[in-house]
Amino acid sequence: MTDINFRNDITIQLDDWMGDDAKVIRMAKASIKKTGGDMEEAARMGFINFLMRERHGVPFEHCAITFYFELPIFVMRQLAKHRISSISEASGRYTELAPEFYLAQAGRPMVQVGKAGAYQFERGTYQQFQGYRFATEATSKRAWAYYRDLLAEGVARELARSVLPVNIYTSGYVTVNLRSLMNLLSLRTAEEHAVIQGHPQYEIELMAQEMERIFAARFPLTHAAFDRNGRVAP
Ligand SMILES: Cc1cc2nc3c(=O)[nH]c(=O)nc-3n(C[C@H](O)[C@H](O)[C@H](O)COP(=O)(O)OP(=O)(O)OC[C@H]3O[C@@H](n4cnc5c(N)ncnc54)[C@H](O)[C@@H]3O)c2cc1C
Repeated sequence: MTDINFRNDITIQLDDWMGDDAKVIRMAKASIKKTGGDMEEAARMGFINFLMRERHGVPFEHCAITFYFELPIFVMRQLAKHRISSISEASGRYTELAPEFYLAQAGRPMVQVGKAGAYQFERGTYQQFQGYRFATEATSKRAWAYYRDLLAEGVARELARSVLPVNIYTSGYVTVNLRSLMNLLSLRTAEEHAVIQGHPQYEIELMAQEMERIFAARFPLTHAAFDRNGRVAP
């Protein structure tokens, strides 16, 4: 019952990437049989900004990033809704799951106020957090003990796992092209200067923020143009 680990991290790491800002330009210039290789920095920035502003999205699809992730299942479910991506996830049928469970840290906004579709989240009281922590720890430990018992009794992993809660961690890789990544970022972050305000859950916003940090490091001009043009996917 005690061999379980509670975590509050949302882990995203760079695994691999394809292309760079110059490739975005090269793909766009294919229509006039040019490469853009002779363009100055300012002209490259201006051209990518033009593509973003005018929503010429296809050149951005030629570049992609592969992220390694470790996420609680309830965040994974939200990630999996982004269909224009390729996901390879650890199997609960072929492997035994690890006893890793999400427990939000104190201070995570936990009280929902406002109208449907326009909720705000406020910090809860000490008692509310303690109640959440107690329930999460108790159900995770109890469910993990049942899972282990069922496996010990010979029940298949694919069925035994169904007793586990959605705060258990999963891991894997997601590859997403830049156009789709910008769509994900527009929906899963909440930046005040965005043309359309996002209303992401706290945990998936942590995931998106880390993806965005990696995106900005590898594709600085594309990222800057996305941000400058109101964070709308082209
Ligand atoms: C705040 C918030 C709340 C949400 N609440 C819910 C909820 O309660 N229940 C729920 O089920 N989901 C919910 N979602 C998920 C949401 O409905 C989308 O599934 C998710 O955000 C992925 O967006 P997407 O379809 O644009 O991305 P992708 O699936 O990656 O698609 C990218 C783009 O490709 C195009 N595209 C993809 N597939 C099709 C298609 N079949 N037909 C036409 N065009 C297509 C669209 O232009 C789309 O924007 C929520 C998302 C957010 C951000």
